[in-house]
Amino acid sequence: MSNNYYFESWGRFPRRIHLGEIVPQSINTVADSINSVNALVLPRGMGRSYGDSCLNDGGYLLFTRLLNKFVNFNPDMGILRCESGVTLDEILKVFVPQGWFLPVTPGTKFVTIGGAIANDVHGKNHHKAGTFGSHVICFELERSDGTRMICSKDRNADWYEATIGGLGLTGVILWADIRLKPINGPYIEMESIKFENLDEFFQISQESEAHCEYTVSWLDCLHNDGVRGIFMRGNHINKLEKEEMKAVHKNPTWKAFPFDAPSFLLSTVTIKLFNILFYNKQIIRKQRRIVHYDPFFYPLDNVNNWNRMYGKRGFLQWQCVVPVKNNKDAIRTILKEISKSKLGSFLVVLKEFGSIPAHGMLSFPMPGITLALDFPNVGEKLFSLLNKLDDIVCSAGGRIYPAKDARMSGKTFRSSFPKFEEFIKYVDPKLSSSFYRRVGGRNDIAN
Ligand SMILES: Cc1cc2nc3c(=O)[nH]c(=O)nc-3n(C[C@H](O)[C@H](O)[C@H](O)COP(=O)(O)OP(=O)(O)OC[C@H]3O[C@@H](n4cnc5c(N)ncnc54)[C@H](O)[C@@H]3O)c2cc1C
Repeated sequence: MSNNYYFESWGRFPRRIHLGEIVPQSINTVADSINSVNALVLPRGMGRSYGDSCLNDGGYLLFTRLLNKFVNFNPDMGILRCESGVTLDEILKVFVPQGWFLPVTPGTKFVTIGGAIANDVHGKNHHKAGTFGSHVICFELERSDGTRMICSKDRNADWYEATIGGLGLTGVILWADIRLKPINGPYIEMESIKFENLDEFFQISQESEAHCEYTVSWLDCLHNDGVRGIFMRGNHINKLEKEEMKAVHKNPTWKAFPFDAPSFLLSTVTIKLFNILFYNKQIIRKQRRIVHYDPFFYPLDNVNNWNRMYGKRGFLQWQCVVPVKNNKDAIRTILKEISKSKLGSFLVVLKEFGSIPAHGMLSFPMPGITLALDFPNVGEKLFSLLNKLDDIVCSAGGRIYPAKDARMSGKTFRSSFPKFEEFIKYVDPKLSSSFYRRVGGRNDIAN
């Protein structure tokens, strides 16, 4: 182990100096690994969190890359037991040819099971399936004192609720049982529909809810004074020939973003131009296609290290949810503020969350509408815009997603996650993160 490691999150902001990394060789050496160092430790999967919830400045990161074994699969129940460092990518490669899919998936397959549970991630089917945690039957958690416990809705239920969405702070998840979903093949019947304003978005969203398993929208938020976008919806295909069942995704290794992009590539003009081209690449209003699951769920995974596109200063993602009763007004105000600031974004995603409750004390989703944007890190102007947006969200009774956050205030976090005080009781004294300390969490042992 060498000193002074710089580690980044996916957004490359902030960069933090750590004392080093620890890599347990198996699930049986996790507690010993944590106790082999005299400093605070944070479990880390693939580092696909955008901000500082996967960083631990002044401490150690415990990488789960060797906790990567498939343990068991029950084909009658569709239940997979695997270690927490197994990635969604690895699960898809093994199970799609056998007719199984992930119950919930985020917009990248390069995340681990541990990371998916610890952020209680959501996907395009939130309105039908809830969060990832809803499909986790049980898991084993190990604390730094060596205590191991099986957690489920019925056993150690309080630890189950603290650990799902628990930001890696309650202990290390060793393995988990996940319920996979049967599919007829790897293809999705997809429809993309252009919309001209928010009212139209809400109308299409409502009409899609019952018959579409997956829904999401891309938004052009720099379009004159309003917004427009493309609504994408889809379902798994009904029937396929046996051979086609085997068509899993390919590795993206042949493509990589080759350099840290210079800042002129990220100006309002280029973003505006990109948005115009993207919106107009579909000529007709409604288009139907059959697409493989890979580009449907993971369009960004096709280019390795696409986060370098934002240059050395990195970028910030900002994702909020505002509850149903306030959603339209608050979302309109937020979009107006963004348009006024001229701080545009290539990637603006809008979706309605459903009402299936999440299990975690700190789970992010709630019934309402969620908006996510990438912003190049241009410094103070951006930070003050994001503070303003946080205030709108809090006044509407919503919250900001910790997995994407790098700067919200402790006040914003604590007021919008009211179970935080209860959650603190479950935090392992040896585990911590930059995020946790930033929002007001404390650890008993010194770094
Ligand atoms: C392109 C892209 C698209 C995304 N789309 C979505 C989306 O649609 N929906 C969504 O919800 N999120 C989305 N995300 C965020 C991503 O899904 C989450 O940040 C996810 O948790 C990252 O998993 P990871 O394995 O990289 O974990 P990391 O980022 O390394 O860690 C995440 C958290 O998990 C904890 N952790 C990791 N392993 C363990 C373990 N074994 N035991 C206990 N704690 C552990 C860490 O301490 C940390 O708190 C996206 C990210 C990217 C880059």
